Amino acid sequence: MATVTMDKLISLCKRRGFIFQSSEIYGGLASAWDYGPLGIEIKNRIQKFWWKAMTQLNDNIVGIDAAIMMHPRVWEASGHVENFTDPLVDCKECKLRFRADLLDEKSLSEHKCPECGGELTDPRNFNLMFKTHLGPVEEGGSVVYLRPETAQGIYVNFKNVLQTSRLKIPFGIAQVGKAFRNEITTKNFIFRTCEFEQMEMQYFVHPSEDEEWFSHWMETRFQYYSDLGIRKTKLRFKEHGPDELAHYAKKAFDIEYEFPFGWKELEGIHNRTDYDLTKHMEFSGKDLKYLDEGTKEKYTPFIIETSAGLTRSVLVVLSDAYDEEEVDGDTRTVLRFHPLIAPITIGVFPLVKKDGLAELAKEIEKPLRENFTTFYDQGGAIGRRYRRLDEIGTPFCLTIDYQTKEDNTVTLRYRDSMKQERVKVSELIQKINEEIKSYRRVE
Ligand code: ATP
Repeated sequence: MATVTMDKLISLCKRRGFIFQSSEIYGGLASAWDYGPLGIEIKNRIQKFWWKAMTQLNDNIVGIDAAIMMHPRVWEASGHVENFTDPLVDCKECKLRFRADLLDEKSLSEHKCPECGGELTDPRNFNLMFKTHLGPVEEGGSVVYLRPETAQGIYVNFKNVLQTSRLKIPFGIAQVGKAFRNEITTKNFIFRTCEFEQMEMQYFVHPSEDEEWFSHWMETRFQYYSDLGIRKTKLRFKEHGPDELAHYAKKAFDIEYEFPFGWKELEGIHNRTDYDLTKHMEFSGKDLKYLDEGTKEKYTPFIIETSAGLTRSVLVVLSDAYDEEEVDGDTRTVLRFHPLIAPITIGVFPLVKKDGLAELAKEIEKPLRENFTTFYDQGGAIGRRYRRLDEIGTPFCLTIDYQTKEDNTVTLRYRDSMKQERVKVSELIQKINEEIKSYRRVE
């Protein structure tokens, strides 16, 4: 198992069309990235995997898709206008800006710039929300924010969903969408960006059951990453200490992943109590309490939130998949994606173009397209074609040769083990589906 570095990942992502720097032809925009043909396939697949795990496999969790721009009072009620800030310090010498809470101990205690040793200013609170104006007049009344989290879109729709879906507590609402934060320290590729995507699920529970649901979701969400094909040894929990808790949280655990630059948060699981619904009742004047038809008890539900980064998950999946190994004196780069996440599931190669093998390969590929993403390649030596698809994480390749013409079998070659076997064309779909189901990531 080779050590993956960010340089290697970034260069592979660019070279093979996973992720590009935004507006590159103009010199790029700091910390903004675009997903290319392969990157978007991974992002979409992770999103689909999460959506299925949350909604399809739970009969009491439904989805919504709220607007990015919301009434400005939402962010006053939620506490973001007042509290969603980072403490920033500036270097008086080199003018660089840092987040005080991310400075190392030494720089913090000596109040010295970690870059040039110059004197730092006292920390000032800087709000992370992007502000813009709705309508043509830039006046106070028309200010709107780009949402810094998707959660509030769920809270303000709590009553709508409750009344239209006939769900009973406990139940959940899931949402995937863009969020925006004016982050000062954006580095490490797509790890921390100003525009990113979240996959959030808010679970509404009786206040007396918050602890047990919190434990349930901690366990469930940890297992999810393993199902996604992420190695368990690279995942851990980290509890937020009292000083680190967000303004709304009673208890919080992060699921962390060991990125090439260290252990960092991938998902937050938060007990937000009745904080948000209570605040929205106060600010909107609307009753958002829940009436239990059985017991006639009326109460404000507690909320257990699972908040995962979708774009950050792409980085986890890429970092975890990256591997290099020596094969016949050569270095093979291979992305060991779970087959459900791999941008291309099956490579289809005729051994040679002539003698009708190209036509036969295309004929065999056709019905596979209904079930899988395939990629046809007839150029160059077979070994080179395998390597090109190993490098983008394609779990299966089929080679169509002269024997195919005789007995209707093809060579099925596996990415991870490089093992090859003959399979009947008529059994391919079933065989590949079974392989996907039983897939295990090599540790
Ligand atoms: P941090 O302390 O690192 O700024 P946070 O604790 O504020 O992050 P949350 O508000 O809990 O993060 O957000 C939930 C999830 O959203 C995170 O676990 C992460 O995956 C994702 N996320 C948050 N901020 C960003 C960002 N700037 N870029 C990419 N993903 C992000």
